[in-house]
Amino acid sequence: MRIWLDGGLREADSARVSVFDHGLTVGDGIFETVKAAEGRTFALTRHLDRLTRSARGLGLPDPDHDEIREACTAVLAANPMPLGRLRITYTGGHGPLGSDRGEHGPTLVVALGETARRPDSTAVITVPWTRNERGALTGLKTTSYAENVVALARAHEQGASEALFANTVGQLCEGTGSNVFVVLNGEIHTPPVSSGCLPGITRALAVEWTGAKETDLPLDVLDRADEIFLTSTLRDVQAVHRLDDRELPGAPGPVTAKAMRIFEERAGADPDPR
Ligand code: PLP
Repeated sequence: MRIWLDGGLREADSARVSVFDHGLTVGDGIFETVKAAEGRTFALTRHLDRLTRSARGLGLPDPDHDEIREACTAVLAANPMPLGRLRITYTGGHGPLGSDRGEHGPTLVVALGETARRPDSTAVITVPWTRNERGALTGLKTTSYAENVVALARAHEQGASEALFANTVGQLCEGTGSNVFVVLNGEIHTPPVSSGCLPGITRALAVEWTGAKETDLPLDVLDRADEIFLTSTLRDVQAVHRLDDRELPGAPGPVTAKAMRIFEERAGADPDPR
């Protein structure tokens, strides 16, 4: 496996990042996961734009889009695989112990992992912990993901692949690595970004392409929804067939199935929708 670090390709086994890198010591970093099928990225421009918004939110220097594009191309060429995920990690870089940033510039790593095709439907749980809709990091894709790691482990313990959070005022928010949509009376709804969810790229495309409405939704909407689906870079549009103890037989239902079809067609027709 060859990855990109310090401006060039390196063997992953011998690539070195400082043990004082703030991505490691204080979680001061941001990232993107970009889908790459047959060596071609999907929606890279939107991912780079969100990376810049995350960098600005943390006060990191703007990432160099030209270098990241070059890195993605080089890493994909060096590691051919049918379906992969590029992981772009950009941290505060080497710094003092503690939270003050040092004088060093950021660290950029671009790596690639192979992924399996996701099933059409999945099981999901809700967790009792809340997302903060008004935090300093809300809406930014930072490497401070430990809360998601804990919630996802809980999901796996219960035979589910995703865990959903409410926000601090009891509204439906998002999953550990996905956005959530519900179907009510034939209409598709998803929580607005003000709920504290990550502005997911798949979410934005699904809203645009299906006409889904952005609506404040109480968490218990999940008990009444006719259909539920998730969106993310690695799931695309994926139906939910079980939520906690509630079975949703026949998932994907007709509205979700149509959203899946629309997404596949539109994404297939344009690998970099702006
Ligand atoms: N919400 C969270 C917390 C995420 O980490 C992700 C993706 O990793 C998403 C939502 C979905 O975003 P996207 O569609 O850009 O992958």
